[in-house]
Amino acid sequence: MPPSTDENRKYRFSWDLLGNISVGRPNLGAQTRLEVYRLMQFAFRDVMEQKLGTEQTDQLFYEAGYLAGAEFFKNVLPPTDDFSQFVANLQAALKDMGIGILRVEKADLETGSLVVTVSEDLDCSGLPELDFEICIYDEGFIAGLLESYTEARFKVKEVDCWCTGDRTCRFTAEVID
Ligand SMILES: [Zn+2]
Repeated sequence: MPPSTDENRKYRFSWDLLGNISVGRPNLGAQTRLEVYRLMQFAFRDVMEQKLGTEQTDQLFYEAGYLAGAEFFKNVLPPTDDFSQFVANLQAALKDMGIGILRVEKADLETGSLVVTVSEDLDCSGLPELDFEICIYDEGFIAGLLESYTEARFKVKEVDCWCTGDRTCRFTAEVID
């Protein structure tokens, strides 16, 4: 099937699609169990890998994470020009929403080189050990956030993960071009 053109898109992202949760879930509210989120991610991964292959699946997870990070920046984070305030806002939002505990280990904005860690990560903390890093969606998410804040393009790579035996996920981010 050919990709949808701009005019005939059915699923173009909009923050409104997340819905009015207080109206829609008066009894159950905004929370769900984390297994449900992971169930969806791993079901998508399995089916996508069978249909598209591993590399394409990883690429789509990265791009979806990137879109989510850019939208999160626009819709959740208060605007600021100050990098430490941006980090503080991001840390608070990620913690409040139960996404993870972010720390910035290194931030060289001159060269565009950062190292960040996410502990108790939504995507991977507690997973069985695998021989690869799993948080590709998070890589894209962080890239989307950083690009939205700096207006520079970043390549983000997870270098340590719960799945590779570390107790925190560590990501390098480097400006590209
Ligand atoms: Zn990880």
